[in-house]
Amino acid sequence: MSRYWSAITHKLTPYVPGEQPKLDNLVKLNTNESPYPPSPRVTEAFHENIPNQLQLYPDPNSTALRTAIAEYHNVDISNVFVGNGSDEVLAHAFHALLKHESPILFPDITYSFYPVYCGLYDIAHTLVPLTEDFQIRVDDYMRPNGGIIFPNPNAPTGCPVALADIERLLIANPDSVVVIDEAYVDYGADSAVNLITKYPQLLVVHTFSKSRGLAGLRVGYAVGNSELIDGLTRVKDSFNSYPLGKLAQIGSAAAIQDIEYFESTCEQVIATREQMITDLIILGFNVLPSAANFVFASHPQHDGATLTAKLRERSIIVRHFRNPERIAPFMRITVGTDEQCAILINALTEILTQTT
Ligand code: PMP
Repeated sequence: MSRYWSAITHKLTPYVPGEQPKLDNLVKLNTNESPYPPSPRVTEAFHENIPNQLQLYPDPNSTALRTAIAEYHNVDISNVFVGNGSDEVLAHAFHALLKHESPILFPDITYSFYPVYCGLYDIAHTLVPLTEDFQIRVDDYMRPNGGIIFPNPNAPTGCPVALADIERLLIANPDSVVVIDEAYVDYGADSAVNLITKYPQLLVVHTFSKSRGLAGLRVGYAVGNSELIDGLTRVKDSFNSYPLGKLAQIGSAAAIQDIEYFESTCEQVIATREQMITDLIILGFNVLPSAANFVFASHPQHDGATLTAKLRERSIIVRHFRNPERIAPFMRITVGTDEQCAILINALTEILTQTT
């Protein structure tokens, strides 16, 4: 430990991102990106706008992008906050909205960046176990707290929470900020965005990294009551006055305006996911119900780490989590193209036949 670090730095346990391999010809099903490129309108917008613009600073308020997001969700621009990926939006949400005397609540199996933000901002938190069948049960969150956060659908399980349950939670927690991280919502869960006018304590966080095919651009956003958005903006402006580059603003605004392309790629991913689930079940896997662009699957006779390693020998990469122990038998597999999923299923068939 370095004596030059601050007191907080040596206590941090940073988030470890999924591997981004440098090798070509891999079937990459490990970090839940879209298997499809973004809308062609994104590159058109780059071509139209980029010449002779990059020497200037970007709009610090991302006004055109926030207007496009507001139009898409039918809210006011004062209800929209943007950041470098939803990770940054979430970081600001923890900092601005979730630091209180009482601990915040989040599931004991969830997006592993949440405890990292708690460490960074010194936020007390209580983990709420998932049910036996890996579901978030909102009744477990009906107790005094300094805020609540979970993804819908949850990660890495993929299981959704019903909108009626989220509304019950909001009614029971009028004084706590409730953050719903909807990174994967477009693949089959119900968005809570329309509840923001009724519940001023609700913040809904989205990303362009998954269903909009723009993980490389790093854009995320939050929708909520203007008071919450104001809190986020104060933190952002105290940190980086030009949070989003010009390319990020232009590209993501073009993407959110192409609704037809967005819907068709989401539908394709959902259809591929359903086929993949059927195929995995035929091979003997247990697969949790997924409303996301990934599935969480375990096999009664084979452990998750071994299967992940054997897939890797065949140039297929999926994600395996050693901790907590309860999820160690599982693999989290991103839904790729039909072709990639067929390669995966063939490889698993081969692996299971060889080892039985
Ligand atoms: N929330 C959840 C649940 C995620 O899985 C991810 C992706 N790792 C994010 C947020 C962050 O996504 P991004 O920063 O790319 O918007």
